[in-house]
Amino acid sequence: MADREHNIVMLGPPGAGKGTQAVRLSRRLGVPHISTGDILREAVANDTELGRQAKGYMDAGELVPDELVIAIARARLAREDCAGGFVLDGFPRTVPQAEALGEVVDELGREPLLVINLRVPEEEIIRRLSTRRTCEECGGIYTAEDGDIGDPCPDPDCDGRLYQRSDDTPEAIAERLRAYAAQTAPLIEYYDGRGLLVNVSGEGAPDDIAQAVYAVATD
Ligand code: AMP
Repeated sequence: MADREHNIVMLGPPGAGKGTQAVRLSRRLGVPHISTGDILREAVANDTELGRQAKGYMDAGELVPDELVIAIARARLAREDCAGGFVLDGFPRTVPQAEALGEVVDELGREPLLVINLRVPEEEIIRRLSTRRTCEECGGIYTAEDGDIGDPCPDPDCDGRLYQRSDDTPEAIAERLRAYAAQTAPLIEYYDGRGLLVNVSGEGAPDDIAQAVYAVATD
């Protein structure tokens, strides 16, 4: 039900709830959810050439080189299902990626981006990431309260099991937060300076955050 283009970027530190909120928003707007992290994890699981190139960086919590992720995003955004818009989750993460995205949007003759920055304090981020559980089957994101590693997915329609992402260990979390501060946080100023940024609090009940995100996306 995209009555106009919704070209949205979800920005925020790891664990801010970008994935959860991006999925919900994309469903509500009827546009694809594009997560470069999901695309890379799938490539790793399938042991493709891309997966082999990306795995070492991902396990260490480091960013995958710009050329690789820019190529992924460029190919994905050119597909027909993105004509009414998209919700990008985890891309861009560096200024060169943001510049490349700007070029793609121009080349495709698309309307300007709306960048939604989910803000969550660092202590809360560390707590969330270290207790995060992910379903191997449906990709659903849960917490240790929903189930331990190896337990069945809480979604009754899914027969997968919960696991802990290999980059949700304390060492990888610390590295991801360093990568965020050094490489991704500058995008807040980059987009704010272009008048494209809206801040939304990522603290509180997921339903309330989803409502606030939808309100700014459709304003
Ligand atoms: P995510 O699921 O978005 O947290 O991404 C998981 C991991 O995939 C990151 O820690 C990076 O190693 C890699 N990754 C995902 N998106 C990007 C990106 N835009 N630039 C560089 N690396 C990325």
